[in-house]
Amino acid sequence: MTAVALSALAMSLIVAARYALSSGAFAYATHRVRPRLYAGLDEQIRREIGWSLASAAIYGIPAGIVAWGWQNRGWTQIYTDFADYPLWYLPVSLLAFLFVHDTWFYWTHRLFHRPSWFRLAHSVHHASRPPTAWAAMSFHPIEALSGAVVIPALVFLVPIQVAMLGLVLAIMTVMGVTNHMGWEMFPRAIVHSRLGDWLITASHHQRHHDEYRCNYGLYFRMWDRLCGTDRGIASPPA
Ligand SMILES: [Zn+2]
Ligand SMILES: [Zn+2]
Repeated sequence: MTAVALSALAMSLIVAARYALSSGAFAYATHRVRPRLYAGLDEQIRREIGWSLASAAIYGIPAGIVAWGWQNRGWTQIYTDFADYPLWYLPVSLLAFLFVHDTWFYWTHRLFHRPSWFRLAHSVHHASRPPTAWAAMSFHPIEALSGAVVIPALVFLVPIQVAMLGLVLAIMTVMGVTNHMGWEMFPRAIVHSRLGDWLITASHHQRHHDEYRCNYGLYFRMWDRLCGTDRGIASPPA
């Protein structure tokens, strides 16, 4: 029991450190390329950091329990030997994780925009106007819990090589921060391309924060397009 609790605590600290380093790095980059972008937002940034650290604690609990079970009880379908599955399966598993996470996020996000759920939880995330790089994990605990269970549940269902799992978490972290930082870091050649029509970057998610009832997706625009909630990207990326 103590070992499980320690694993959960350690994971919460790791998630908090990951948040501080990634949001801190992109906040610093923002300071370099758009020196005045976060001017006057000190109070908001303090709240974003507070909610994000609470979310980090929540994210760490299921992740820490599952990590303990993986190491000590043979839980999960995480594998370390590349020879366990064919090499073509590596990108397939990566895309499968991103796709399922995106699907879960899209539909729970739609739910969180229902008036009662919005008042109860999601208003915390939208209190950032405009969001900053520190808003990456700025969620009410109820919403944080809905996000925290996805990857720990998926590793039981879909086999994934541990390095690919690391890549999933890296993509999740970087996109979570950069989609909120208030400027587009990807080149126009990508954002305004056939591929860009299906990917979510800052230009797309910013519009969700500006207009609320559109652009609900996480990584891909597929669900937004299928469900008629895609309003395209905000004014030309600066
Ligand atoms: Zn957001
Ligand atoms: Zn929202």
